[in-house]
Amino acid sequence: MNALTATNRNFRHAARILGLDSKLEKSLLIPFREIKVECTIPKDDGTLVSYVGFRVQHDNARGPMKGGIRYHPEVDPDEVNALAQLMTWKTAVADIPYGGAKGGIGCNPRDLSISELERLTRVFTQRIHDLIGIHRDVPAPDMGTNSQTMAWILDEYSKFHGHSPAVVTGKPIDLGGSLGREAATGLGVFFATEALLAEYGKSIPDMKFAIQGFGNVGSWAAKFIHDRGGKVIAVSDISGAVKNPNGIDIPALLKHKEDTRSLKDFQGGDNMDPNDLLVHECDVLIPCALGGVLNKENAVDVKAKFIIEAANHPTDPEADEILSKKGVVILPDIYANAGGVTVSYFEWVQNIQGFMWEEEKVNHELKRYMTKAFHEIKAMCKIHDCNLRMGAFTLGVNRVARATLLRGWEA
Ligand code: GLU
Repeated sequence: MNALTATNRNFRHAARILGLDSKLEKSLLIPFREIKVECTIPKDDGTLVSYVGFRVQHDNARGPMKGGIRYHPEVDPDEVNALAQLMTWKTAVADIPYGGAKGGIGCNPRDLSISELERLTRVFTQRIHDLIGIHRDVPAPDMGTNSQTMAWILDEYSKFHGHSPAVVTGKPIDLGGSLGREAATGLGVFFATEALLAEYGKSIPDMKFAIQGFGNVGSWAAKFIHDRGGKVIAVSDISGAVKNPNGIDIPALLKHKEDTRSLKDFQGGDNMDPNDLLVHECDVLIPCALGGVLNKENAVDVKAKFIIEAANHPTDPEADEILSKKGVVILPDIYANAGGVTVSYFEWVQNIQGFMWEEEKVNHELKRYMTKAFHEIKAMCKIHDCNLRMGAFTLGVNRVARATLLRGWEA
């Protein structure tokens, strides 16, 4: 199912549970603004190449819009729209004073040189600089982008508006980035998993984990789980997959990936087919890569008892239904991966304060936000007798609906 159809379906379900007025429901669903721009750059060999860039600003009732910019060949308007909407509910679930947005460029960053990526990022920033801003819309990294991309956006934006570090988050530390931001999504996934397992009288060291994706989110999540005594028994990414029933030595795997740029042929485990990762025998499955990976074809074969959605919308609604019937507990994306945007908020606060926090304070605050949100989701589940996804959606949608009603509409 298309990401937007799936996201809208979850939103509508939450709106029904909350008994939202139909006009309010419609206004919450339709994005505030959708931007589509053409970005033409000269390649290193002098030939011209054009890309299409998007920024969807979904909602700003609770504060400036917030969300990443993705560079990926599959970026399309519907997907960006769905991701922008998910950011609105995610920032509300985390209870940080933001709305939601998302951007993307349909390109394969692996096919572009560093200078081509820089040119593309600068042109994209020129196209959207009037529509973003510290109190308007604050981009951040997402798939295919990183702190260097944010540094280029900051530099380009500052040419028009003066030096403005808080216009983007996920920056390099030297340009006002926050300590702990790089690891934040993975650490948030870890805190979320800990909170969920505690509800079932379990803890990280009792569990066997399978992790799909070993990029920024998956590798940090794996590292924190491994450091706290959890057994990561299978890991995959686009280069391959590795398994070890006794637990993979994650620091050694990180080193192997750094040296060979691949997960294949790691001495501390056996190669496996990456397609088998999602149905591998384990207690906790953590998809940390693309959306829609759990669908009606593979959901029946999932062996995990818990799924932590570190990726955005990894579970199709059809798979959701199949997995629920099997009794699998799913911790939804709009909560499970909220650690990244939560530390983005701390970065923005530090930039505005002009004062840098210690990493310990960042991580302590992150844990506090993640734990608080988990208990608030559980409270919604109890009130509305619903699963964790609807608990998170009703919590987020209700907060945005309240802010919208308080602000009112122009006459
Ligand atoms: N791209 C991340 C997300 O999907 C982080 C967004 C942000 O920090 O603004 O949540």
